[in-house]
This record gives sequence, C-alpha cells and structure tokens, in this order.
Amino acid sequence: MKIIMLGAPGAGKGTQAKKIAEKYAIPHISTGDIFRANIKNNTELGKKAKTYIDQGLLVPDELVVDLVVDRLAREDAKKGYVLDGFPRTIPQAEALDAALSERGEKIDYAIDVEVPDSAIIERMSGRRSCSQCGASYHVVFNPPKTEGVCDACGGTLILRDDDKKETVEKRLSVYHEQTKPLIDYYTGQNIIKEVDGTRSMDEVFNAITGILG
Ligand code: AMP
Repeated sequence: MKIIMLGAPGAGKGTQAKKIAEKYAIPHISTGDIFRANIKNNTELGKKAKTYIDQGLLVPDELVVDLVVDRLAREDAKKGYVLDGFPRTIPQAEALDAALSERGEKIDYAIDVEVPDSAIIERMSGRRSCSQCGASYHVVFNPPKTEGVCDACGGTLILRDDDKKETVEKRLSVYHEQTKPLIDYYTGQNIIKEVDGTRSMDEVFNAITGILG
C-alpha cells in the first residue's frame, strides 16, 4: 500500500504516518525527518536545507525530489510506504508520478488530515520534539510520561525553531499557497480521502484505518 499524507504543518500527519507504518508494516518516509537528520549531522544537504527550514520556507524541489525517488527505490519500499511531508508542491507531485509510472507503480491513497489554521497555531506552540530521535509530543494532547523527556529514547524534548509562532504563521501561508493545490491534484486522480484531524489521535487513526482497511 502506497500512501501520501497531506495536511497543514501540525495537523498530526507525522504522528498518524508513524502509526500507519507500524500497523501495516511499511516504512514511514518523512522528508522533514531526513532533513533534520542531515542538519544534525551537519551534512552539505543539511546546511542548505537549514537556511530554508529556519525561515518557514520550503526547501527547493531539486533538493527534495531525487532524495525521495532514491529512497523509494530501496528494497523495503517495494511492499509500500507512507510518505509524510512529500510531495509539498505540484512539481514534486508530478515528479513523483513520473518516477512511479516508470516502474509501473502508483499511489493508492492521499490522506488529507484537515485542521483549521487557528487550531494549528494552538497545537504547534505546544509541540515538543526529541532532540535525539525526533519523536513528537504535545504538552496537552500527547504528553511524554516524564515532562521534557522522550519516552522512546530518553532524549531532551525541545521546541523546534520552525515551531515558533512567527515561523508557524509563515509555514501556514506557504502551505496554503504551495501545498493545498495538491488536494485538487489528487482529487483529480480520485485517490484523496479527507479525515477530520481535530479529533483525538486515536479517533483520527480509526478513521484512517477505516479507509485503508
Ligand atoms: P516537516 O517535519 O514535514 O514539517 O518538515 C519540516 C520542514 O522541512 C518544512 O517546513 C520544510 O521547510 C522542509 N521540508 C520537508 N519536506 C519538504 C518537501 N517535500 N519540500 C520542501 N521542503 C520540505
């Protein structure tokens, strides 16, 4: 099963993508996680990506597309995957479709997790991320067992620079301009499924598994 997660930054698509990947035993491929790992390791890609990410802007398509296409060619992606944070622009979606059609493959579902902007801003100010493994928490909706400490690896939880209020507002406007058109794009392919992302994490997950089967 090949799945794309769509939705505004902070809509919960990363959390849901992780749960989908576990349930269906497919890889969770997050471009944001790939960039953050590169930034942490101070790679050339990381250095380039950081200048955009810190401003709430998208990393240019040419730095993203090959990275994802190569990742999808790996053995573990043969049985399917859940793409989280990609595509984010129409040219990325077109490049993905072109790469997949060369291999006779296609995306099965594009899940759109819908949350209004006002709720996004409230959520993101409470989001905390593990500085070591990248796991995501929320001070109200998904708190760790011990405040400030990652359940998964014991790392310190931090507020990501790109989750700060001004950056969140910028990211939301970028989302509306550049990423939202993908909903029409995938509606045209008849694979879009909308879920109400304002409900609890488990309710949203139940809605998604109801769709995926
Ligand atoms: P995320 O964790 O998915 O919210 O991604 C964090 C940041 O990484 C985004 O705000 C973008 O700056 C960058 N990024 C992640 N995925 C993409 C993509 N597909 N295209 C361009 N930039 C991306």
